[in-house]
Amino acid sequence: MPEIYRRKTVTTTIGRIRVGSDAPVVVQSMTNTDTADIPGTIQQVAALAAAGSELVRVTVNNDEAAMAVPAIVDGLAKLGIDVPIIGDFHYNGHLLLKKYPECARALAKYRINPGNVSIGRKDDDNFRTMIECAVENQKPVRIGVNWGSLDQALLTRMMDENSRLAEPLDARDVMMEAMVVSALDSAAAAERYGLRHDQIILSAKVSGVRDLIDVYGVLASRCDYPLHLGLTEAGMGMKGIVASAAGLAPLLLQGIGDTIRVSLTPKPGGDRSEEVQTAQQILQSLSIRSFTPQVTACPGCGRTTSTFFQELAQQIQGYLRDTMPQWRERYAGVEELKVAVMGCIVNGPGESKHANIGISLPGTAEEPKAPVYIDGRLAVTLRGETIIPDFKRILNEYVDHRYGHSPAEQQLVEVS
Ligand code: SF4
Repeated sequence: MPEIYRRKTVTTTIGRIRVGSDAPVVVQSMTNTDTADIPGTIQQVAALAAAGSELVRVTVNNDEAAMAVPAIVDGLAKLGIDVPIIGDFHYNGHLLLKKYPECARALAKYRINPGNVSIGRKDDDNFRTMIECAVENQKPVRIGVNWGSLDQALLTRMMDENSRLAEPLDARDVMMEAMVVSALDSAAAAERYGLRHDQIILSAKVSGVRDLIDVYGVLASRCDYPLHLGLTEAGMGMKGIVASAAGLAPLLLQGIGDTIRVSLTPKPGGDRSEEVQTAQQILQSLSIRSFTPQVTACPGCGRTTSTFFQELAQQIQGYLRDTMPQWRERYAGVEELKVAVMGCIVNGPGESKHANIGISLPGTAEEPKAPVYIDGRLAVTLRGETIIPDFKRILNEYVDHRYGHSPAEQQLVEVS
């Protein structure tokens, strides 16, 4: 697979996580608990971190939330979880960061929305106060422009200027340009107030896929700050997953994007970690990063006699997901494993040969046998009622043989 050229940026550090340029694209998520609920927030951050979130953002919206932040960071440390916690501020961040210096110290990064930090003011003292807190505590800042809360004074001025042009631009184009200008002007102001160039990350979130691709394309061409990507409100379920993949993929393939978040709306009581799994799957589908072994399963068609192969594909996928936490500890590189579960002879052997380990189940009128291919070669043919446990056993043996070695031993395994 050809390497994806990554856009050159400065690099910054958020806690222990490097962001930008040649650093891996980082997966971020955000809690939806009341931050003042310390045990509930710790529990959700722990779950997001366990799912693979490398940065977790919490809202810091009032006194109670700001007071809770140090206890949340401490509580996570006691559990051995050192995921950096980012504070999300709107409207009153300047007040909270000044009033609660322990919160300012405990957070690994501040997210500032320039569209609402100095609302109703003629100067940018509130923004400046937040930046000075970041400078004092040596924290990086994400300047996060959002089209739903774009700086209205800036937008009005740019719309007025546009209307006086001989050939005015579309309102949409002016809005996109206003987002870019808001982000870049705020970054320049932050540097004037003492923040280093390499302590700034930018984002310009919108909810439309085409808008996202356009605005980030322009933003990327005009600066070398690392960029945080994501649709601002991706939506629920399949719609949110598809829209996020459709929006993020073209940008990531152009090397644009240094941290990503998939902003899914969970079902009531749903699993917040789904946004982390989706972000990981987007990166893994694009061969940008590997997180978990992948199962290639055919969709099935009229050639399959039963749902047996669907059950097998589902069981293997679930087995890999459940076993991965232990495998990750024991088997370096196991996240690169590729497994194929195929429904008949048409594509079964071919696809199975392209995987590390693959099984081709019998289709309609085929002999009831399931050949298993290992590293492109037919290894064994399974039959009867025990195909699933037999295949899992072969999978375990393969993983132990392939990944259960030191790097030097590994080279010998690959050569042999
Ligand atoms: S591999 Fe066979 S069962 Fe699966 S979709 Fe193709 S033809 Fe159908």
